[in-house]
Amino acid sequence: MEAIRFDELDLYPQILRGIKEMGFEEATPIQSKAIPVVLSGADVIGQAQTGTGKTAAFGVPVLQKVDPSNKKTQVIILSPTRELAIQVADELRKLSKYMHGVKVLPVYGGQEITKQIRSLKGGAQIIIGTPGRVMDHLRRKTIRCDYVDTIVLDEADEMLNMGFREDIETILEYIPEERQTILFSATMPKPILDITKKYQHDAVTIKVVKKELTVPSIDQYYYDVKRKDKVDVLTRLLDYYDPKLSLVFCNTKRMVDELAQELQGRGYFAEGLHGDMKQTQRDRVMKSFRNGKTDILIATDVAARGIDVDDVEAVFNYDIPQDDEYYVHRIGRTGRAGRCGRAFTFVKGKEVYKLKDIQRYCKTKILAQPIPSSDDVAQIKAEKVMDRIATIIEEEDLREMIDIIDKQVNESDFTAMDIAAAFLKQALGTGVENETNAEYDFENTGAEEGMVRLFINIGKKQNVKPGDVLGAIAGESGMPGRLVGAIDMFDKYTFVEVPREYGREVLDAMKSAKIKGKSVSVEPANQK
Ligand code: ADP
Ligand code: MG
Repeated sequence: MEAIRFDELDLYPQILRGIKEMGFEEATPIQSKAIPVVLSGADVIGQAQTGTGKTAAFGVPVLQKVDPSNKKTQVIILSPTRELAIQVADELRKLSKYMHGVKVLPVYGGQEITKQIRSLKGGAQIIIGTPGRVMDHLRRKTIRCDYVDTIVLDEADEMLNMGFREDIETILEYIPEERQTILFSATMPKPILDITKKYQHDAVTIKVVKKELTVPSIDQYYYDVKRKDKVDVLTRLLDYYDPKLSLVFCNTKRMVDELAQELQGRGYFAEGLHGDMKQTQRDRVMKSFRNGKTDILIATDVAARGIDVDDVEAVFNYDIPQDDEYYVHRIGRTGRAGRCGRAFTFVKGKEVYKLKDIQRYCKTKILAQPIPSSDDVAQIKAEKVMDRIATIIEEEDLREMIDIIDKQVNESDFTAMDIAAAFLKQALGTGVENETNAEYDFENTGAEEGMVRLFINIGKKQNVKPGDVLGAIAGESGMPGRLVGAIDMFDKYTFVEVPREYGREVLDAMKSAKIKGKSVSVEPANQK
């Protein structure tokens, strides 16, 4: 079955807006199958692995069912732990962000009950709770079921593992017979099937089955990375492995946009690709990736579907894929045509379990790998420079250069070793520039204090975007992109501000640079 787009479903525009804002590109397989059935009002038994989007699979249709004008409890969702209850509540709040009058409240053990009772008095149509605590409230009549027409048992296998079976059955007895009973679980052991037999009517079973898949033989690594460190680790790996072309996968459109901006800001030639972009935009991005002008493409699974590029040397799973099958599709983009390829997956905390699933299902090995240190990166960069140098020594006529160095060694206290080391430092872009800015007039550029304003003879008419200018400056000069100041674009020219101490470096670096394939001339702005 094909995955569906949310807007193909008969949902309130407010819900679609919430979904859109979460950046979901299309429904996951379990969502595609389950949402229409839940919407139909039937009892449902849904089975799909962890991380496949089961929350929205029941959350979206349940929201569609809620009557915002009735403040009474209409939906009870049972969840095994406090953390999961909070997580589900958060997801439902985001999905219902634009539905006025819908309140979602988590209740769980460990939280002061009097406080919970006060919140419950305020009225919440959707209550998400751990079984013990929900039962407690039902007994105290602080949760009333007169209007409850939907009950969801989420992560049912976990709830049973935690010994909640009796509590669940007690709760089910409280809920009016005229109801929709929805159960979602990653696995379906017998005790769950017993519950479904006893408490559901004509339930529709929805199962997302997995196909056998072959994984290409490429090196696969994973890194344990906290969310906030992901960009740093990504750039470190990009610097270390220096892949010719890289594909970076994110799970949401929003993440694609965010990451593209982050990388551009750090001077990488990165572009995003997702379903919200116009066809012409997508064509432009793909063309630029094919001809190597963009060397990092950041995409969602959906957007990447049509991509067929041979030289992709690395695939990054910036977000761990939603579905095992996606993993195989994603990493299959590298190692084509007998080329070497690598796949890197970032996981945080519990996502390691998902990784285990993927390995089991795909019968593949994904090895833990330490994050390269900045020394490792410097080392490998130096090795690359030395490789280039070796070629120059072999292939070029260096007599004149040797004379100059010879003269320098004779006339100064430097050894040839000192000089070679200094050149290496410069080549690595870590050299300190102590030169004056004498050749350039930085006095009257009209820039903010401490900055210089530069004029570039290229503008909007040439289809140039601020990100291109920023990328070129940071990429060519090695100055961190975040130091770039205001960028003012006009039809045929652009002004950009950079810190004064980098002015000369940027101007020198831009002498031979191209933006969007065009040679440019850059000079200090003249506001005299
Ligand atoms: P499960 O309950 O199956 O383990 P969740 O519902 O917790 O999975 O979803 C896992 C993650 O996937 C969540 O961060 C959720 O926001 C995200 N997600 C759910 N549906 C989609 C979708 N259609 N597209 C992208 N991300 C999604
Ligand atoms: Mg879940």
